[in-house]
Amino acid sequence: MDKPQLLDQIATDIRDKNICPDLAKTAKNLVIGDGNLNAEIVFIGEAPGKNEDEQGIPFVGAAGKFLNEMLASINLARSDIYITNIVKYRPPNNRDPLPDEKRAFWPYLIKQLQIIQPKLVVTLGRHSMEYFLPNQKISQVHGEPCHITFGQDKLVVLPLFHPAAALYNGGLRQTLLDDFARLPAIVEKIKQEQA
Ligand code: URA
Repeated sequence: MDKPQLLDQIATDIRDKNICPDLAKTAKNLVIGDGNLNAEIVFIGEAPGKNEDEQGIPFVGAAGKFLNEMLASINLARSDIYITNIVKYRPPNNRDPLPDEKRAFWPYLIKQLQIIQPKLVVTLGRHSMEYFLPNQKISQVHGEPCHITFGQDKLVVLPLFHPAAALYNGGLRQTLLDDFARLPAIVEKIKQEQA
């Protein structure tokens, strides 16, 4: 199977195994992910919101618009990266995803990363950070790449604040922009280390 087929298979498995049936009942769409399956950078958000649920595509609302601006500031387009969420159905009324929901979708997120094989995984916000970097505080570790190993997989994870949290908070917004500006150099360093 090629990469698009493998990704489709993940969506099929989530539906067939009836993952998070309560969320599946209230959501309009399963939001698997979007972008380049050969991307060097994979971004991981929290869960789809209203717009994402309606369109079946992650980060198409206000937070997504800000994310696109930040990508443009480092000369990247959405077609250069892959983007997904830890939880793949919209939680009702945009409530925080529950621990059980994050746990249920985690193996599918790992499968996505195993297929795409990015150089860098960027977590957006604490919900997607917590399984990669347990017991860390985002306010202390944001912008610092971490090399992690779990099972057979080695990953470099860069925790960033969530764009939605930074949208209306000037200080956080600048912090996120500053962290974003360092992304190209971080990816270059990883490539040199792996060369
Ligand atoms: N916020 C997220 O975490 N994910 C989306 O897809 C949209 C907003």
